[in-house]
Amino acid sequence: MSVIYNRVALIGLGLIASSMAHAMRRAGLAGEIVGTARSVETRDAARELGFCDRIVDTAAEAVDGADLVVLAVPVGAMDGVASEIGPKLGEGATLTDVGSVKRAVIETVAPHLPDHVHFIPGHPLAGTEHSGPRSGFAELFDNRWCILIPNGTPQAATDRLTAFWQGLGANVDVMDADHHDLVLAVTSHTPHLIAYTMVGVADDLSRVTDSEVIKYSAAGFRDFTRIAASDPTMWRDVFLNNKDATLEILGRFTEELFALQRAIRTGDGEELFDYFTRTRAIRRGIIEAGQDTDAPDFGRSGKHD
Ligand code: NAP
Repeated sequence: MSVIYNRVALIGLGLIASSMAHAMRRAGLAGEIVGTARSVETRDAARELGFCDRIVDTAAEAVDGADLVVLAVPVGAMDGVASEIGPKLGEGATLTDVGSVKRAVIETVAPHLPDHVHFIPGHPLAGTEHSGPRSGFAELFDNRWCILIPNGTPQAATDRLTAFWQGLGANVDVMDADHHDLVLAVTSHTPHLIAYTMVGVADDLSRVTDSEVIKYSAAGFRDFTRIAASDPTMWRDVFLNNKDATLEILGRFTEELFALQRAIRTGDGEELFDYFTRTRAIRRGIIEAGQDTDAPDFGRSGKHD
């Protein structure tokens, strides 16, 4: 691979940004990687880990001379960061983000940008329940999908960012923001909410002790606890910013749950069997598409956000 951007600025140095830096290094995609984060602790950790060429104190300094700027902060923090860097972005620079929600990010970030910037929102569908600069690894995006929302930007800028994400290991799809938010409400956001709820229910159930929950946790519940260990700030921001789609899917989920509840009460084994047969086929499809990151060869408890 050859250099695609001469200077990449990473704003935020958590799981996603640090993984991007490792993967950029692996493929030689950036002439220079400049990083910044809100806290001194994170900046110091990033310096110690050495995945950036330079760590600077502010976002405004980081974007100076960058031809690619990546916003890798929680969705609720995008507005503040965009207002800081907007006036500093250079002529022809590409700005992207990795936020898990797209319509709200476009609405908060775009007003801060000068006309000469190519704004191409993005979302890599790759993650783990870990966060912070020490959790990143170069393989995070390998064979995963990254969705880009070109938003009327010139094709050449989108092609360049596509090549960049492919160099990081990902497959790239293009989508509009509202469709992205609906798809992710189904595949990620609502499942996270259900996992949070189930773990909360187990915690509240006084007739089953915490030690029993831990001792006898079978695969299903263990998976829920892993998902429910995801970063509270990130997930609070996801639900606050993907309200409509999440509520729509949650409404449908509740209806189906009631139907299954009735089938259990009335002893309708046929309905339960047919339902579980249909859902089993979806699982097979995911495995056949190579998107099961919990497969043993992945080596980490992967899941996307
Ligand atoms: P992370 O590991 O928690 O890192 C977040 C980074 O943002 C940290 O460097 C943090 O700085 C900085 N930050 C937090 N609040 C900030 C604020 N108010 N102002 C400025 N900077 C702030 O998070 P992540 O998992 O990399 O997620 C980053 C983005 O990627 C989020 O928008 C998330 O929705 C998206 N995403 C996450 C996943 C996933 O599974 N984790 C997957 C795909 C996309 P300090 O460390 O100094 O506080």
